[in-house]
Amino acid sequence: MNDAACRGLSDIFFPPAAERPQARERREQMARAVCETCEVLATCRDFARNHHEYGFWGGESEEQRHQAGFHLIAPIGIRARS
Ligand code: SF4
Repeated sequence: MNDAACRGLSDIFFPPAAERPQARERREQMARAVCETCEVLATCRDFARNHHEYGFWGGESEEQRHQAGFHLIAPIGIRARS
């Protein structure tokens, strides 16, 4: 956590209540840009996948993690479209 590029930026890694899809896409783009600069991206992504975390972790959205085979009960992108 000490090496995380997202320290202090949790607002863009977790959705607010009732977030609309367009706002989610913008928020996740900002989060992805932070992750691309992060020294611990691979470790973070593996942790989130293996612990079925919600939110944006390791350069991946909930939907991307779910589609990679690390299933979540209600990933936000898929839930919004169904
Ligand atoms: S890879 Fe993980 S630790 Fe690094 S900025 Fe992204 S969410 Fe934070």
